[in-house]
Amino acid sequence: MNTTLIAMGIAGLLAIGLVITVGAVSLLSGSFHFLFARPRLEILKSEFGDHGFAFSFSWNAAREPGKFDIVKVRLFNPFGSPTQVEVSKKFSAGSSDFARDSYMGAGMKKLLEAQGIEEASVEVELISTSDNLTQSFMFKGKKFLEQLSQARETVKTFEEALPAAPGKPLYATVQRSFIAEPMPESAKALKIATNPEFAGDFAAAGGAGAEAQENFTVSKVWIDPGCIVCNACEAIYPEVFEVTDDTCLIRPEAPLDNGLLIQEAAEACPVEVIKFNK
Ligand code: SF4
Repeated sequence: MNTTLIAMGIAGLLAIGLVITVGAVSLLSGSFHFLFARPRLEILKSEFGDHGFAFSFSWNAAREPGKFDIVKVRLFNPFGSPTQVEVSKKFSAGSSDFARDSYMGAGMKKLLEAQGIEEASVEVELISTSDNLTQSFMFKGKKFLEQLSQARETVKTFEEALPAAPGKPLYATVQRSFIAEPMPESAKALKIATNPEFAGDFAAAGGAGAEAQENFTVSKVWIDPGCIVCNACEAIYPEVFEVTDDTCLIRPEAPLDNGLLIQEAAEACPVEVIKFNK
């Protein structure tokens, strides 16, 4: 009888010990992750080819909160040519695991084609201007080129794989409780591309009945004061327009031979500050 009780007591103590050990190990591993998980930068496939740079960035935002909004790529090539190249780009800030694909311009191509890059070093720096933080990642040039050429994941596939954001609160949809008055009669014609009366106004956009316009080269394109940084022009022609925090710039090596696209961007500008000379 006594022996059975002692055995049961020992078994109970062992079970309690096991539960405490498992709890302590999981707490410790969580703490290790919280304290020592290192920021990670993965090179992704850019839709801008050798003029772009795409990456994903993961870090412990709970331990080190920050909103990163600039990416810099630097080449240190002391034994090659050119010896140094730096390109940078501001993007919409990311405050947790995020990915961005930025058009870096001709400088990126120059960096990638530098003579001797395989033996050089490439530094990728992520900067948070609002929180004064910088994360730096060094690559051997050869490794950097390898990762760029082997990258298959894009920003889109990275974002699709992220865990779904917590569900939004549900709201009841208010039932409509009115009946609209009939539209008043008007002699005005609807100004849409399919209305032949206005086909000429939509020629650049390929409206119905519009004749195809011949492309042209512009001699100069510039931005008048008053840009409201809506991004419309950059979305239409990113090789020419670069929208910054407070204005829009013309890229230094902007191609000027696609006048139709520049004209389309000018027509899309809500404040009509994009000007060009044919
Ligand atoms: S479309 Fe016009 S307002 Fe919008 S960013 Fe470009 S220049 Fe600025």
